[in-house]
Amino acid sequence: MSSNPTIWRATVLTLFPEMFPGPLGVSLAGKALASGLWRLEARDIRDSATDRHRSVDDTPAGGGPGMVLRADVLAAAIDAADAAPASSKDRPRLLMSPRGRPLTQSAVAELAAGPGALIVCGRFEGVDQRVIEARGLEEVSIGDYVLSGGELAALALIDACVRLLPGVMGSQESGADESFSDGLLEYPQYTRPQVFEGRPIPEILASGDHAKVAAWRKAEAEALTRTRRPDLWAAKGGQEGQKTR
Ligand code: SAM
Repeated sequence: MSSNPTIWRATVLTLFPEMFPGPLGVSLAGKALASGLWRLEARDIRDSATDRHRSVDDTPAGGGPGMVLRADVLAAAIDAADAAPASSKDRPRLLMSPRGRPLTQSAVAELAAGPGALIVCGRFEGVDQRVIEARGLEEVSIGDYVLSGGELAALALIDACVRLLPGVMGSQESGADESFSDGLLEYPQYTRPQVFEGRPIPEILASGDHAKVAAWRKAEAEALTRTRRPDLWAAKGGQEGQKTR
């Protein structure tokens, strides 16, 4: 594999490498992957196990249910990724984790602007705390719910980053106007037919008056954000958000 440092690269450490590229192999991300706009490497954590049974987990210290991913095995998997030709050494090291910093569009944009990421997918009850500290893993959450493993979370994070890479989205799918790009949710979208089950497209969208369309969309985006996401509205408008609610 070429180690061109300018290409955005995701190295995923997982017990289920067959889950990759999965949905990232189709549509925008898949085409971009096939044409070399970004790179993906899924490495099997189990390859770093050292015992006869290739075990990667053990019972939690102090007792309790489930199993914990071992620090020594995961550390060896991270070190092997660092030592590989397309080294992950200079990329952010993320651990998908429900305890982590919530993933936001601005964090995604920051990651997409960098060289890529090394992404560790937890399983079982999670991973031994010592490897998080020893290898400087930053915990990232994709929401306040618990998945069975970090793979779906990693796929979501990578997808969100890849679509922002130069050349991945065409001008038609530009991200400039999307939800969160301006701290607001996106306005409602419409397309043909002109009337669907008695519901017409809002008249203003057919007016051809670009300034009026833009003003309508802004007002709709603000109204949606105010009612659905008062947290975003307050963060954007502060006092203004309080007044108009
Ligand atoms: N015992 C852990 C807890 O209560 O925080 C949950 C472990 S979960 C069953 C197994 C793995 O799934 C985690 O180590 C993490 O990698 C991944 N995971 C689960 N929910 C996630 C979320 N909301 N965001 C990111 N990763 C998640």
